[in-house]
Amino acid sequence: MPLTEVAPGDYVHLGRPLPLDAPGHDDIANLGFIIGTRCVAVIDTGGSVRMGQALRAAIATRTPRPICFVINTHGHVDHVLGNGAFVDTGATFVGHAALPGALTRSRSFFLENYHDDLATADGRAQLVLPTRTVSDALTLDLGGRRLTLRAWPPAHTDADLTVTDESTRVLYAGDLLFVGRAPALDGRLEGWLAAIDALAATAVARTVPGHGPLPAPGAPTARAWAAERAYLTALQAEVRGDLDGGLSLEDALRKAATEPHGPWLLWESVHPRNVARVYRDLEWR
Ligand SMILES: [Zn+2]
Repeated sequence: MPLTEVAPGDYVHLGRPLPLDAPGHDDIANLGFIIGTRCVAVIDTGGSVRMGQALRAAIATRTPRPICFVINTHGHVDHVLGNGAFVDTGATFVGHAALPGALTRSRSFFLENYHDDLATADGRAQLVLPTRTVSDALTLDLGGRRLTLRAWPPAHTDADLTVTDESTRVLYAGDLLFVGRAPALDGRLEGWLAAIDALAATAVARTVPGHGPLPAPGAPTARAWAAERAYLTALQAEVRGDLDGGLSLEDALRKAATEPHGPWLLWESVHPRNVARVYRDLEWR
């Protein structure tokens, strides 16, 4: 498993730019781990138990210290299905206060559609829910290294969590930041814009997106946030225009399909879903 040490003790595995239904789809999310003097925190576990096991093996090549926390940035399949590989580490599973409910609601969908990504027939036991949840903010101590976890109101999903390593000022943004890959909306557009504004204004040394390459510090990171913001703002304006013009959802989707592709990977599958999501959200307001 290729790793990048983004700061001393902060490691990232970059996922591949593939659709969710392509071979290798279990390796599309960026994963991380942070090594303290006492123990290790894992940030997202990949889209299969196999990926989780590969991440666990990669951690063991860097440190003999135990894994004390497995943190999920949200409940999407590509970030959580590797959780099962960490059950016997004794680690505490940590997530947004809304994550247990979100994962419980997704359980039958995951078991039906992603059973090949679970290690055994007993897939249910591998869909691990957080036992320690965050409704606002939480500090975790890895020994000589403190992490600040922040729970966000609905944005990319209803259960987004970010992690900041206070000793290196590395921000693990989860899927609140997409770089290159079309941002997929599964929560609330206004909430996502507010989260972008807050996170882009936070002073950090490096920002790790949930998908896509690591932007270099400084202006490239600011550009990555701005590009995502511009996409979401244009999406909001487009759907508002559709609604003001009296277009049905079907007409809005037909119109979206004829528009030129944005500069994003997987635009053709992600953008129409986003239009539908925002349409349903705005049509009653
Ligand atoms: Zn996601």
